[in-house]
Amino acid sequence: MAEGYEHRTAITRLQVDDGDQQLLEETVNNWRQGCQIAVNEAWDSCDGKREVQSLAYDEVRSRTSLGSQHAILATHQAATAISSCLEQRRTGKNPTKPEFTAPTVKYDARTMTLFDDYSVSLSTIKNRVRCDLSLPEDPDGYQFEYLADKDWELTESTLTIRDGKFFLHLGFRQPTTSCGQSTAENGTVLGVDLGVENLAVTSTARFFSGKELNHERREFEKRRGELQQTGTRSAHRTLKQVAEREKRYVRDYLHRISKQVVDEARQCDCTTIVFEDLSDIRESIPEADWFHIWAFRRLFEYTRYKAKENGIKTVQIDPTHTSQKCSECDHVARTNRPRRNHFHCERCGTQANADYNAAKNIGLRFVRRGQQSSRRTGTGQCALKSGTLAPDGTFSPYPTNS
Ligand SMILES: [Zn+2]
Repeated sequence: MAEGYEHRTAITRLQVDDGDQQLLEETVNNWRQGCQIAVNEAWDSCDGKREVQSLAYDEVRSRTSLGSQHAILATHQAATAISSCLEQRRTGKNPTKPEFTAPTVKYDARTMTLFDDYSVSLSTIKNRVRCDLSLPEDPDGYQFEYLADKDWELTESTLTIRDGKFFLHLGFRQPTTSCGQSTAENGTVLGVDLGVENLAVTSTARFFSGKELNHERREFEKRRGELQQTGTRSAHRTLKQVAEREKRYVRDYLHRISKQVVDEARQCDCTTIVFEDLSDIRESIPEADWFHIWAFRRLFEYTRYKAKENGIKTVQIDPTHTSQKCSECDHVARTNRPRRNHFHCERCGTQANADYNAAKNIGLRFVRRGQQSSRRTGTGQCALKSGTLAPDGTFSPYPTNS
């Protein structure tokens, strides 16, 4: 994530005409080949973004049907993959050459245009195609928060094809200065981990169980199933009422939890609440279904809204390894988590609830990011159960009388 901007992703289905489907599929295939060609060309000899472009651009153009801008973007994609390998190499690992297998293609402002009627025009290997976004009917859908708000600027987006369906991950950004970035990097942060069993866990060890929500949802589901079976007109009416009641219940529930998260942040004098980036949440929490994904997003937005009213900033960070990493010694291993709930570091022996360990990592990652920024202004700390932890390991207990 670039410094100085807050980033968000809005995911939506795309309605693609039959005639355009194949064209987009071929574009995805060419993109994958283009990225692979760029990596192959640059793998042995490069160490920067501009270099991959100059080493590989001509080859990508001549061996794929990608247009000039998509060829450039493919070299950038390759450069990002290579730099993450270089990063691993610096930490003593021996990464293998990246392979591009995901059915995706990147878009930027030159290759995609978003129109006010919520349709997009997309570059392909031939002509541009125009598709409608298949947005939720609910005007409260989180996507509209970015689409309808001119403060959010459209940046890089990704088209994904899954099971023959087309999805667009629209990237938005907004300068962070509007919400007081400088204090956030120096202040105390509250990390929040999201999940199915525990809906939210804070770095201060507040647990918000998902049990009640999951139970109520099953009850609503049962009731809806019964009414559907009845099939009468009056049952249909009741079904609608039940669906409304369910919606209200879930919203109230999430509002309540978001309020408690913000209260916790206030009690610990936090200036920032840190969540994980929700773009790839389906991969990081495999047991979450569509409902949970929806609930996580709403919980984040409710918290952001309430936090803002209290002068507290809410941000998202890249969640890579936050669930496998030891918050005490930074050791990363899948085997650190012998069971879903339980964290047991195989290096230093630390044992903890896995969600709590992840929440600490999420808070600490944001604090460290402030420290590593080019301005090196960050002197932030992460709020824990009994005190705050600075990135250098200094622990300051809370005053005992509070
Ligand atoms: Zn450890």
